Amino acid sequence: MYTCAGCSCLCDDIEIETEKGDVKTVFNACRRGAGIFLNYRLSRAEPMVDGKSADFEQAIEKAQELIQSSEKLAIYGLDTTTLEVQELAIKLAEKKGAYIDDNSTFCLGDFVETILKGELPSTTLEEVKNNAYVITYWGSDAYHSLSRHMSRYTYYPRGGKRQRGYEEDRFLVVIDVRKTHTAKLAKKNARFLQIRDDLELIEAFNQALDGKAPSIFVNDIPRILKEMEKADFNVIFGGLGLKYGLKGNYDPFKNLMARLNERTGVYFIPAGCHPNMRGFNELMFEKTGEINRYSFREQRSSDEFAFHKLLENDAIDTAVIIGTDPLNSLPFEYAKKLAKINTIVIDPRETFTGRFAKVVLPSAIAGVETGGTMIRSDGVRVELKPLFEKEINDERILGRLLEVV
Ligand code: SF4
Repeated sequence: MYTCAGCSCLCDDIEIETEKGDVKTVFNACRRGAGIFLNYRLSRAEPMVDGKSADFEQAIEKAQELIQSSEKLAIYGLDTTTLEVQELAIKLAEKKGAYIDDNSTFCLGDFVETILKGELPSTTLEEVKNNAYVITYWGSDAYHSLSRHMSRYTYYPRGGKRQRGYEEDRFLVVIDVRKTHTAKLAKKNARFLQIRDDLELIEAFNQALDGKAPSIFVNDIPRILKEMEKADFNVIFGGLGLKYGLKGNYDPFKNLMARLNERTGVYFIPAGCHPNMRGFNELMFEKTGEINRYSFREQRSSDEFAFHKLLENDAIDTAVIIGTDPLNSLPFEYAKKLAKINTIVIDPRETFTGRFAKVVLPSAIAGVETGGTMIRSDGVRVELKPLFEKEINDERILGRLLEVV
């Protein structure tokens, strides 16, 4: 069995048939996951220096030189790499007094932080499979972003106390601003709440908990609360829709969770898509008490240390980009600034950022060509074993970069 590192589900039941040293058939994975294994040879990065092909040794020496001479270094990305690689990157940032940040800054890092601080009760996907009755997806279209989440861990599987199938033994709630594909699955024993404002919905739940008629979803909210009280184990999966709907004010949601838990068991798990974002957050939290946007020089985390802010404020001269493609995803204003500084890209595949980088160092695909450990969205550690072993991987590259700091 192999583990797919295509998203934070980290499915560890992948079976693979190989033929003549190549992947022939992939079993159990979703389409995205199967593509990672079947197409692992496509769009591979090559070592580059100043936009020209180089050999690996030339590229690594140039990267060492850039890091050595940098006075304001940032390391960014890391959510598609293993814990072992993240540890080395954090060590590099610490030794160099650099900034370090990942995608969790604008993804679900805030939710991970509240869980790590014990401010939201959380659980594991295995517990959900065996016990959860009311399963709520709030601002997450898991059907697309986490393709096997519902079939493998939450709504559809039978397990433990939930043996009678989803139509009898689960109650699905989908909360979103539009009728997503996940919302379309809310049929029997289910509710879809199409909302305008997450805070308005929280207020309506509070009204119902106070024994008053809620201002919206007059019938649905009391029914959902009644269903939750039928079981002692319910779960809310919060996605980006919920994060941005809360507009940076997490207290109303935390208060609602506390009130629900006075009546019955309701747990929270972030529904995010980067495979090892939580791993980075946990490592940083253990080391610094913060989860991202960190300056080792100033020994603190701040919004101004978010990678896009560092670019905006011309605060860095060199960036090491690992396993992500910011030029492709950042707004043009930031992308323009990134193209002007020294950039070292470490990635198994060709990226848009790599085209403008001073140095490109090709690495290995986690779970296909290199092993290690990742942390799933619910905090469970999952081992990855490689299908093939590639000599040059992120660990080796970061080990070489550490030699010069
Ligand atoms: S759901 Fe995610 S981890 Fe599972 S097979 Fe699909 S991409 Fe891979």
